Amino acid sequence: MVIGAGFTGLLTARVLAGHFDRVTVLERDELPIGAAHRSGLPQARHPHGMLARGARIVEDLFPGVRAELAAQGAPAFDFGAGFATRLPYGWAPRRPVGIEVQSFDLTHVEAVLRARVRHLPRVALLDGFTVEGLHLSADRRRAAGVTGHRRADPGRTPVRIEADLTVDATGRRSRLPGWLTAAGLPSPRRLEVPSPLVYSSRMYELTGDQVPDWLWPSR
Ligand SMILES: Cc1cc2nc3c(=O)[nH]c(=O)nc-3n(C[C@H](O)[C@H](O)[C@H](O)COP(=O)(O)OP(=O)(O)OC[C@H]3O[C@@H](n4cnc5c(N)ncnc54)[C@H](O)[C@@H]3O)c2cc1C
Repeated sequence: MVIGAGFTGLLTARVLAGHFDRVTVLERDELPIGAAHRSGLPQARHPHGMLARGARIVEDLFPGVRAELAAQGAPAFDFGAGFATRLPYGWAPRRPVGIEVQSFDLTHVEAVLRARVRHLPRVALLDGFTVEGLHLSADRRRAAGVTGHRRADPGRTPVRIEADLTVDATGRRSRLPGWLTAAGLPSPRRLEVPSPLVYSSRMYELTGDQVPDWLWPSR
């Protein structure tokens, strides 16, 4: 069982499908068919870049996926030549560095991966389902599944789903430490790496017939 059908959950489902007879992905959001914004992925409209190593792994798991993304407007280009970077002391030099990236809007990459995962015979996507906790095996040595509720159920009737292996792919707001504590298990030690950097995105309208000399997703 995989909790969360984001980028990590979709790749995890693909990997587990090679090892288990049945893989169920539980996702809190109602998942759209095609590319559409959803509340569980607030950063999706921010342009994303897939770096070389990650791209190779994704391509190995889903052959042809990079070409499919390119056909949908996600350009692949040399990192040093295709990005325009303005630093406090001016524009960074633009020259090829031999590292290829592919950039996209995350809603598109998720839509492409989701469609591929939906076609995997051993994988089922169950959306509109919020996981609320773990339940343990009788000897309390492993997670035996999860409890949760359907979002559409106003009474939040608890539903229990059994699994041999449970993977948490709920991202940076994971509630797993609390779920472990609630099940009477120690919470993992938390390691925080403070970063002085933050991201923000801004839209600019090009004037007249300006054609940018940098590359970014075309939609
Ligand atoms: C501004 C910004 C820019 C970024 N740029 C890049 C970039 O250029 N390149 C790059 O590689 N990465 C980038 N990232 C990081 C990237 O977006 C994340 O690493 C990636 O989305 C993480 O995917 P995930 O599947 O692990 O988590 P998420 O995308 O957070 O997915 C978690 C999923 O779990 C679901 N979920 C949560 N709780 C529950 C629950 N209780 N029950 C069921 N489902 C649940 C959520 O609805 C969601 O679908 C950027 C991030 C930000 C914020």
